[in-house]
Amino acid sequence: MDNSIKTSKKFPIPKTMKAWVLGNPNEIKLSQKDVLLPSKSEVLIRIDAVAICATDLDVISHGPPAMIKGGSPFNKNFTPGHEYMGTIVALGPSVDEFEIGDRVTVEIHAGCGQCKRCRMGMYTSCHNYGLNYGNKDKGHRANGFTSDGGFKQYAINHVNTLIKVPDDMTDEEATLVVTAGTTMYGLTELGGLVSGESVVVIGPGPIGLLGVAIAKSLGASPVILVGTRNNRLEIGKKLGADFVLNVNEENNIINSVKSLVGEIGVDYVIECAGTEQALNEAILMCNRGAKICLAAFPHKKIKVNIPHLVINNIYMYGIRGEGKSATHRAMAFMKEKRFDAKLIHTHTFKLNDLPKALKYARERIDGSIKIVIKPWE
Ligand SMILES: [Zn+2]
Ligand SMILES: [Zn+2]
Repeated sequence: MDNSIKTSKKFPIPKTMKAWVLGNPNEIKLSQKDVLLPSKSEVLIRIDAVAICATDLDVISHGPPAMIKGGSPFNKNFTPGHEYMGTIVALGPSVDEFEIGDRVTVEIHAGCGQCKRCRMGMYTSCHNYGLNYGNKDKGHRANGFTSDGGFKQYAINHVNTLIKVPDDMTDEEATLVVTAGTTMYGLTELGGLVSGESVVVIGPGPIGLLGVAIAKSLGASPVILVGTRNNRLEIGKKLGADFVLNVNEENNIINSVKSLVGEIGVDYVIECAGTEQALNEAILMCNRGAKICLAAFPHKKIKVNIPHLVINNIYMYGIRGEGKSATHRAMAFMKEKRFDAKLIHTHTFKLNDLPKALKYARERIDGSIKIVIKPWE
């Protein structure tokens, strides 16, 4: 062992670990992998909890946005999973920002640190995305997308991606910081000054629900959540939505929004549904000069009402992930208990039960919203 790597008897490190590996599309196998040791500026984390995200389901079924060795992630001994937290059990050379035993949650993206976008803090838009192998190694990491992810027992992370978890925050809640960080990044990229401004969130998935919480914490008023499932809309109310609207129960969702914010329309929309209909409704419910945050990945090309957008000076922002340290700002709110992110955590499974957990997530069995895996139970 390199003697500049620090370990502790309190946290013995095994030679191998359990790890799920992606085979063909929709085929994951429980396997064994070596536990590697951290390099300079990296730590080894014992993964204590990892949440399942809709993007994991996309990766496991279709591949993108995962990209391993420049191509599809299938049959490359790749472990998916990107929303994890854990305990630091080894420090690589030069690491003095953290100590062994610290609980941390992780951002997904460690950019190359040298391209134009990374230098602007936009490391989720790194020009060297996926270039982390062979002669092309630029040091980029997006764990669970371009490098090994969290459906296993240990992971190596760059110190840039770590956020300390307070003692009174549960493992499960700490896995949700990156989800909250995504809408935090969206709202701050849109301008950030949303206090006293009206915000509509479309789509009460995990990002939309925590988007409500973040918008409310930033002082937006009113915050309106639009969706189709009443159980999720109820959770939205608890997270800070002033009003909820069920699309299936309203005659015209645009008029319903306007009846709450005034005929001029809403100032901000966080669009988390990713459908043609939702996006066009978002455009038509906007105030002149309003801003729309595109926080969902649509699965196909969609037609949008560009004339209305241009005539009314409406801005539309594509948002990828959680850049500019947005997860740190999200953690600041969660640490202060501005909202209870745990409300979206519905199920917990053991590592061995990952296929069942993925099925629960995909089919939304038993009202599942956020499912967490505990790799050591
Ligand atoms: Zn995710
Ligand atoms: Zn970069």
